[in-house]
Amino acid sequence: MLQQTQVSRVLDFYERFIARFPDLGALASARESQVLAQWRGLGYYARARNLHKLARRVVREEAAVYDGALPADPAALRALPGVGAYTAGAVASFAYERRAALVDTNVARVLQRYFAPRLHPKRARDLTRLWEIAEGILPRTGRAVWVHNQALMELGALVCTARVAHCERCPVRRGCASAHPDTDHGLR
Ligand code: SF4
Repeated sequence: MLQQTQVSRVLDFYERFIARFPDLGALASARESQVLAQWRGLGYYARARNLHKLARRVVREEAAVYDGALPADPAALRALPGVGAYTAGAVASFAYERRAALVDTNVARVLQRYFAPRLHPKRARDLTRLWEIAEGILPRTGRAVWVHNQALMELGALVCTARVAHCERCPVRRGCASAHPDTDHGLR
């Protein structure tokens, strides 16, 4: 729901959707038209179709493969309809506490500013590099990765924002290559 859509706009839809389809089984049992009806007004209907297809695959069509639940492995998650690298990392990390990286727009910006100011997150090659950096700095345990990923996302949303980098109140400013251009992480 949050793809290309702000949190404030999603909240009501999310509550209604979860009340109507509280789990994958309920979603898989519904007709596509019923799923789309709950999504009406939110736009980007491919998301709803993919979510419905995902539920059907996991709970019905390939229930024996998935044991009726989302897989925990990022590569297995990415094989499901509508699941990209970010979503796979987020589900693996936040739902299963796996040691998985995730890079959304906010995280890409934080990593770029902190480690490699010369990279451009909108350039595919540079985004790949940022994913490599994200994987290279993961803590050792899945539980610590959960906290680490949450912190990166929060830092990008609240402190190192797209509009302005609030370096004066940033908890990691001492090691940041943008705040201190002499800093060399060896990653530029
Ligand atoms: S010090 Fe500034 S540029 Fe660096 S991560 Fe913090 S807010 Fe972003």
